[in-house]
Amino acid sequence: MTYTVKFWGTRGSIPTPGPQTARYGGNTACVSVSGPDGRLMILDAGSGLRPLGHELMARRNGAISADILLSHTHWDHIQGLPFFKPLSAPGNTFCIYGAAQEGVALEEILRRQMDPMVFPVPLTALAAAIEVHEITEGSVDLPDFVVQAFRLRHPGTTLGYRIAPAAGGRDIAYVTDNELGDGAGYPVRADWRARLVKFLSGTDTLIHDAMYAEQIIQARCGWGHSTPRQAVALAAEAGCGRLILFHHEPEHDDGALDRLLDDTRAYASRTAGALQVDAAMEGLELPL
Ligand SMILES: [Zn+2]
Ligand SMILES: [Zn+2]
Repeated sequence: MTYTVKFWGTRGSIPTPGPQTARYGGNTACVSVSGPDGRLMILDAGSGLRPLGHELMARRNGAISADILLSHTHWDHIQGLPFFKPLSAPGNTFCIYGAAQEGVALEEILRRQMDPMVFPVPLTALAAAIEVHEITEGSVDLPDFVVQAFRLRHPGTTLGYRIAPAAGGRDIAYVTDNELGDGAGYPVRADWRARLVKFLSGTDTLIHDAMYAEQIIQARCGWGHSTPRQAVALAAEAGCGRLILFHHEPEHDDGALDRLLDDTRAYASRTAGALQVDAAMEGLELPL
């Protein structure tokens, strides 16, 4: 099956609109995965979910339905939900998948983001039908795609996803907010790295956290993110065909990201064979 992956938000931590980020984009994490006529899948619900919602409403032909897979519930991965227009239209249906956090149910966390103390419209007032499914590591039961979830090294319970079309075809992995370096204290097994490499083995396209520049990573140890070179090493070890750098640092403007990408491509050509490296840009579409 052929399908399209599209980036609606590529930024980490906080939206960074403005002319300095116009090319790579200022919206926070949101990626759509859509087949020719199957159900829409959305990876994370950062502020990029808002323009995706506008496009879905403009193009709709009947009710809209989608599965929304959350990596975790830090702001930059859920802050688009209150502004996702399709949630306000009756007849639309959405299933939201993700992990509970710190003993708090996923649905409760999403409700709290829209508590009257901080937002005028509660989650329960939205007209669309919303189902919330809590998941952990393992398979996620979805139509059209075979999805596996894997726990990442990031504060809280954060999941990466490997996604393959059920009918066969090239697969992708979405692994953001993940520390490949030295940070300690994550509740993962000692063989975590080997298990992650196995989980990603032979993936066609790996979308991976590449937030921090090499010069700053030691000062950010334990913050739950990686450098582009660390992502290259993982992609090469797992035999991936293509790496997309993702979750861009808010302090990096377009010029800084150009330089980071150039450096990463040079590093990959020295160390990672035929691995193709690109950086996620808002609006970028990957036909798979
Ligand atoms: Zn994030
Ligand atoms: Zn996070």
